[in-house]
Amino acid sequence: MQPAAHAPSWYAASANPHAPFPSLEGDRRCDVLVVGAGFTGLSAALHLAERGYDVTVLEANRVGWGASGRNGGQIVTGFNRTVGEIAGWVGREDARKLWDMNEESKALLADRVARHNIDCDLRWGYVLAAMKRRHILDLRGMLAEMETLGYGQARYLNRGEVQRLVACEEYVGGLLDSGSGQLHPLNYALGLAEAARQAGAHIFEGAKVTRLEDGATPTAVTERGRVTADHVILAANAYLDPIHPEADRLARSRIMPVGTYMIATEPLGEERALKLIPGDMAVADINFVLNYYRLSRDRRMLFGGGVAYSAMTPPAMDRRLHRTMARFFPDLKDARIDYCWGGNVAITINRTPHFGRIAPNIYFAQGYSGHGVALTGLAGKLMAEAVAGTAERFDVFSRIPHQPFPGGRLLRMPALVLAMSWYRLRDML
Ligand SMILES: Cc1cc2nc3c(=O)[nH]c(=O)nc-3n(C[C@H](O)[C@H](O)[C@H](O)COP(=O)(O)OP(=O)(O)OC[C@H]3O[C@@H](n4cnc5c(N)ncnc54)[C@H](O)[C@@H]3O)c2cc1C
Repeated sequence: MQPAAHAPSWYAASANPHAPFPSLEGDRRCDVLVVGAGFTGLSAALHLAERGYDVTVLEANRVGWGASGRNGGQIVTGFNRTVGEIAGWVGREDARKLWDMNEESKALLADRVARHNIDCDLRWGYVLAAMKRRHILDLRGMLAEMETLGYGQARYLNRGEVQRLVACEEYVGGLLDSGSGQLHPLNYALGLAEAARQAGAHIFEGAKVTRLEDGATPTAVTERGRVTADHVILAANAYLDPIHPEADRLARSRIMPVGTYMIATEPLGEERALKLIPGDMAVADINFVLNYYRLSRDRRMLFGGGVAYSAMTPPAMDRRLHRTMARFFPDLKDARIDYCWGGNVAITINRTPHFGRIAPNIYFAQGYSGHGVALTGLAGKLMAEAVAGTAERFDVFSRIPHQPFPGGRLLRMPALVLAMSWYRLRDML
């Protein structure tokens, strides 16, 4: 089977030069097998290879082919839920540890970019914008919680202040977070892969695992070869097809792949681009179905939003996103759209990440619910720590309770569509 090419994104068009990785031919034996070469799998592989483990990574398509190579590139502080809500499920002590580890994930990302010299346009500064009075109350609540937790990098912006950073007249307030930021996600993934390769990891592309056999030494079966290992890390997130009954029961049933889409305009030129986002920061609004955007290095507007709950891209997604973008920035009404692409995010019912095991030596991390750019790095590291014998931090995450999506495999999608339609309606009101 030929690996699928990268999505037709601006990221693929501006990827740093990189050689393809080989395909798997024949059988291999190693310490740890990683399934999936997105941020999660690459981070685990890098960490393990640096610790001296013999690691094999099998990627069905290309490195960074999944969500990691196509996302909004926004590095976001915190989870999709408040620490207070999370404390209600796991207790205050674990909730505090989760917050601290989330903070660690951003530092880990910055450290890896610096240490491995990854050219991925990493920049800091982020605006979370409010469009309604209700949003302002939400932002104030978030800020109060951040302050209680000792986070000193965020502050409230009034209407005038937010509009000086982002020239969108719909914004009535905002939160400026200098601890959140942005990067070129595909170049970050390619940089992680190169760092893992240099540390000794063996990465194979076009190597889709079709079946996983568990046991003391699990074996992954691909079309042209098999890999046997002492430990397995499943890092296929929203793209995991059925490969093992327990992976279906314990992992796949608890996430829903949801399509989200992006467009990239033509290059706008420095002056025109910076008139739109004078602060040159990553921006998102606080709607439940949110819009997120930022300027690229070559001064295009990269604008994301729009969701779909089926495997098919909704028709005319480029025009739909263009209309939304032009509502925010009338100056972009006639801007040419050069790229439109989409990918799947994995959401969980409670919108917090889902870590666990399907066997004592088979780990998974998934369901970052739109907050995966930084958290995936830590997820990979925590699975690597667990493989190395210290699962304490991994288990703080694995104690977050997760339920399967109701309705089984057939009905869970209509149930989600109904729920999301309600939230979208609420956003519009
Ligand atoms: C359009 C879009 C915008 C987003 N924006 C943001 C954002 O701005 N900020 C943020 O924090 N998050 C964002 N996200 C989410 C974020 O991208 C993900 O949380 C993160 O990339 C998940 O990384 P991962 O490595 O776990 O999974 P992925 O990157 O999806 O990697 C999984 C890999 O596993 C491979 N695979 C699957 N099955 C097999 C198999 N059987 N054998 C071998 N390989 C297999 C796939 O080919 C894929 O490459 C966005 C996602 C999308 C799609």
